[in-house]
Amino acid sequence: MTQTITILGAGIIGLWQALTLVRAGFPVHLIERSPQPAPFAGSASRYAGAMLAPDCEAEAAPALVRELGHAALPLWRAVYPGIAARGTLVVAPPREPGELARYARATLHHTRLDANALATLEPELATRFDTALYFAGEAHMAATDAMDFLLNAVVEAGARVSFGAPDVSPPAPGLLIDCRGLAACSDLPALRGVRGERVLVRAREVGFTRPIRLLHPRVPLYVVPWPDRIYMIGATVIESADGGPMTVRSALELLGAASLLHAGFAEAEILDLGAGVRPALPDNIPRVIVEQGGRTLRANGAYRHGFLLAPILAQATLAYLASAPDHPLLERAPK
Ligand SMILES: Cc1cc2nc3c(=O)[nH]c(=O)nc-3n(C[C@H](O)[C@H](O)[C@H](O)COP(=O)(O)OP(=O)(O)OC[C@H]3O[C@@H](n4cnc5c(N)ncnc54)[C@H](O)[C@@H]3O)c2cc1C
Repeated sequence: MTQTITILGAGIIGLWQALTLVRAGFPVHLIERSPQPAPFAGSASRYAGAMLAPDCEAEAAPALVRELGHAALPLWRAVYPGIAARGTLVVAPPREPGELARYARATLHHTRLDANALATLEPELATRFDTALYFAGEAHMAATDAMDFLLNAVVEAGARVSFGAPDVSPPAPGLLIDCRGLAACSDLPALRGVRGERVLVRAREVGFTRPIRLLHPRVPLYVVPWPDRIYMIGATVIESADGGPMTVRSALELLGAASLLHAGFAEAEILDLGAGVRPALPDNIPRVIVEQGGRTLRANGAYRHGFLLAPILAQATLAYLASAPDHPLLERAPK
């Protein structure tokens, strides 16, 4: 193919599509509506915890997400040196001991840690918990650092990039890959929004080194450590396309639950309260949907797994372009 591939949307899905295709030798033009100098301002991706957690997510996600998520980890590691591969720890409030056993039954690839093992691995968590599940194969990153890195890599690889662009109308010639997230809902009527609120804090007294999940019965929570003692505390999962500011209720619940993990969160500085809307398809499995006789691909529906599965969606597009359309995330829309 010699015609330029136009990619709409520089969220995590569009960035991975652009990088994969330009490195494979295709001419790529990545178009993003948000202007510089805040290139990701309109994305759900900038709010993500950016955990690569196929096993923990399998508690509620289909098995396919776990399988493809495992395949995505080496793809991330090959591209982005900022991946922290330190696993995930899962704990339950001491008054809910059954929760950890239930979670263990619903997931794979974990080890049950006793108090000594927990104290060795994450000493500051062991002051409040005497057992945990350890998912050693999982990883995480800081979302916007990773997006900055990918965007630079796309430019360095030779793609054209336009920010602050109006809608492409009429469509550019050549292949269009629509990665607009929820903004594509008029063209993908099955798409729905799932609101996710999160708090960013700087907690100088907290020294967690890997994501911690708390199986709180009312406020299931995770805390993801980013550089400089910044922690992402998330996240609500609300069936709503409302991207408006975080509510006081959610802020109180998330911050209250975080201080069950570590007293130091009470002294943390709040850096940002925000909400993103995850684009989701009815079965919560993302797809690359082929439309208009192959002139438009829609890479969308990443739900809670956009960081996890973005490399696999990019592979699905490559499979389509190589005329090998049997990828599990590739779907042809009925004519
Ligand atoms: C609080 C929270 C925590 C999360 N945590 C995780 C996690 O730990 N791990 C994980 O894997 N996933 C996580 N997710 C999910 C993940 O963030 C989403 O699946 C992902 O962001 C979806 O990416 P996207 O590129 O499809 O959409 P978006 O990130 O929304 O990107 C779409 C882009 O398209 C642009 N756009 C819109 N219209 C146009 C147009 N007409 N022209 C050009 N550009 C346009 C937008 O400005 C935007 O930049 C989380 C999500 C939230 C909200």
